[in-house]
Amino acid sequence: MSDTPHYDVLIVGAGHAGGQAAISLLQAGFTGSIGIVGMENHQPYDRPALSKDYFSGAKTFERLMLRPPAFWSERGITFHHDHQIVAIEPQTRRIVALDGAMFRYETLIWAAGADPRNLSCPGAGYAGVHTIRKRADVDRMLANLDTVQHVVVIGGGYIGLEAAAVLRKFNKDVTLLEAQDRLLGRVAGPTLSAFFASEHVAHGVDVQLGAQVAALEGNEGQIETVALSDGRRLKADMVIAGIGVIPAVGPLEQAGAYCANGVVVDDCCRTSLENIYAIGDCAQHQNPFADGAAIRLESVQNANDMAKIAALSIVGKPSTGRDVPWFWSNQYDIRLQTIGLLTGYDEEVIRGDPASRSFSIVYLKDGRVKALDCINATKDYVQGKELVLKAALLPASLLADGTVPLKTMLAETAEHA
Ligand code: FAD
Repeated sequence: MSDTPHYDVLIVGAGHAGGQAAISLLQAGFTGSIGIVGMENHQPYDRPALSKDYFSGAKTFERLMLRPPAFWSERGITFHHDHQIVAIEPQTRRIVALDGAMFRYETLIWAAGADPRNLSCPGAGYAGVHTIRKRADVDRMLANLDTVQHVVVIGGGYIGLEAAAVLRKFNKDVTLLEAQDRLLGRVAGPTLSAFFASEHVAHGVDVQLGAQVAALEGNEGQIETVALSDGRRLKADMVIAGIGVIPAVGPLEQAGAYCANGVVVDDCCRTSLENIYAIGDCAQHQNPFADGAAIRLESVQNANDMAKIAALSIVGKPSTGRDVPWFWSNQYDIRLQTIGLLTGYDEEVIRGDPASRSFSIVYLKDGRVKALDCINATKDYVQGKELVLKAALLPASLLADGTVPLKTMLAETAEHA
C-alpha cells in the first residue's frame, strides 16, 4: 500500500478535460500534488484534429500537443500512461487499473471522456472497420489508406462528415450513409443539414439519407461490402463508423455514483460520491444555455469549462458560472462555428446567402436568440456571442439583414425587451 502512488488530486483521463483540470488547479493556487492517469500513451493533445488536420496530414502529432512535455514536468504534474482504470474504491480512496496498478487519492477527478459507439450489425468486427476517438485509431486508418479506394462512412454527424471531406482530398470514392432523413439531425437545424449535404455532393461524396445498414460482409476477415436493408450492396475497402459515443463511466457506476446519460454532477461538477468530481464528455450537468436541462456536451469548450469549475471548487473558491457553449467543424474550405445551444429553438433565421458559402443561421426561441451557426462568417460568430448571452429579443427581419453587423443590434434589443 505504501508504494501505491498517492496524490492530493488524482485525475483519470489525460484528455482535454483532464489536462485543463490540472492547469486550472495550478492557476487557482492549488499547491498539493497532482497526478494524471490515462489509458493512452500521450499527454493531452488536440483531439478534434484527429478527423481534421491530423487525418489529412496537415499537422503532425507533435503539433497537436496542448502543452510541451516540459510544461507539465516543470509544474510537478505526474503522468501515468497506459493504465485503464477499471475500479474505484471510494471507501479507501483508491483506484485500480486493468493491469493491476493502483493509485490513491484525496480528491478524484474523473475525466475519461467517451468511447465511440460500435456498429451492432453482423460483421462489425471485420478488419478495415474503424471508429475515430484516439490517435491510434487514425494511425491505423492511415497505415492502410494506400490499399483503399472505396470507403463507406456510416453516420452523418460531424466526425463522419469531416472524415468524408478528408477522404475526398485523398481522392477516395466515398459513400456517406445516414439513417435519418438529414445530416447532422442531432446537432443542427435543417438549413445547415441541407447546406452540408449539398457541399459533400458537390465534392463528390455519394450522400445516402434514410440508409439502414443491415450487415457488413467480408472475406478472410477483411471488410468488402456494406449491405443495406433495402437490398443494395456497396463496395467497401474501409468503413468508418461515426455513430455517436457512450460516456466512459463504468467504474464510477459500479462504485455507486448516480448515472443517467453519463455520470450526474452538480453545479460544482461533484458526483454523488464523496470527493469525486466528473468533467467533460462523460458528465451530465444542468446547463443554463439549455434552459437548465440536464445534458451532456461533447466539446472542447465544455471540457475546459467543467475543468475550471471543478478546480475552483476543489480549492474552496466555488464558481458555477458557465461559458457560452461553442463548437467548430472544418470540412473542405468551410469553417463552421457555433455559439450557443440549439435545444428547444422554434425559428431559424438565415443571414446572408447560403449560395455564397458565407452566411449564418440564427436560432430563436420565443423571438430570443439562442444560438448561431456561422459558416465562413467569423464576425457573426464573435459578435453573436453577446446576443446569445443576453438572449436578445430581436425582429427576425433585422437579424436576417446581413448588411447590419450583429454588434449594432444590442441597442435594438433594449428597445424590444
Ligand atoms: P477526452 O479528450 O476523450 O479524454 C479522455 C481520456 O481519458 C482519453 O485519453 C481516454 O483514453 C482516457 N480514458 C478513458 N477511459 C479511461 C479509463 N478507464 N482509465 C484511464 N483513462 C481513460 N469538439 C469540439 O469542440 N470541436 C470539434 O471540432 C471536435 N471534433 C472532434 C473530432 C473527433 C474525431 C473527436 C473524437 C472529438 C471531437 N470533438 C470536438 C469532441 C472533443 O474532442 C471532446 O469533447 C473532448 O475531447 C472531451 O474531452 P474529455 O477530456 O472529456 O475527453
